[in-house]
Order: sequence, then C-alpha cells, then structure tokens
Amino acid sequence: MSINQIGGKYFSAIAASSNPRYPDAERVPDTVLINPVLTLLGDEMEEGWEGCLSIPGLRGLVPRYKRLRYQGFDQSGNPIDHTVSSFHARVVQHECDHLQGILYPMRIRDMSRFGFVEELFPDNAPVAE
Ligand SMILES: [Zn+2]
Repeated sequence: MSINQIGGKYFSAIAASSNPRYPDAERVPDTVLINPVLTLLGDEMEEGWEGCLSIPGLRGLVPRYKRLRYQGFDQSGNPIDHTVSSFHARVVQHECDHLQGILYPMRIRDMSRFGFVEELFPDNAPVAE
C-alpha cells in the first residue's frame, strides 16, 4: 500500500506482513517509510509474481532488482536505513513505484505471464483481495 503525498512529504506505507497473497514469502515488517530513497546494490535482477490491490484479481511476473538499500523516516521522524534482498526488496520497489505512478504491469517483460489469477494458477483456489 502506498499513499502518495501528505503535507508535501512523499509517503509510503509498506504493508506486506503475513499477506495471504504471498503465503510462501518471507515476512516483511509493516513499515511506514517517509521520503524513501532507494539505492540499488548491484544490477542483478530476479523475477517474481506480483499482485496489487490497485488492480485486483491479476498477477504478473515482474523483474526486480535483487538487492537494495532503502532510507527514509518512520512516522515518528526516526531514520530508517535497511539493506534488503529478494522478496523484501521486491516489496520496497513495488511500493516506491506507486509513488511515481508506476504499476507493476508496466514492468512486465513477457506479457504472456500476466493475467487473471484463476487463469494463471487454475490449480490454486482463488485468492481474495
Ligand atoms: Zn501495489
């Protein structure tokens, strides 16, 4: 989840912990990240499935940078400085993309890997969003 602007500050609330959309993913702590600054660590990328509450019922295979550092401030003004990888790095990139009006389908390279959950994963029960 991301919120673009409050009182002139860019604001991103990252909420992906125990998300039923990603039951196998590592836990990402709920984080309020204000004025995020991302620094990519290397140019290694990996693909992973993403969905988004902004476009429910869909999934896409999205390439993301594997490692990055993100900095900013929490809701109390305390500095945040984390170096993360894989799923956590994916969530940060997804949320910060929202701040620039970028939705994950805009990053999909192979559009055959984008579609409705029921079509892409017919063996899985539909996931509520
Ligand atoms: Zn999203």
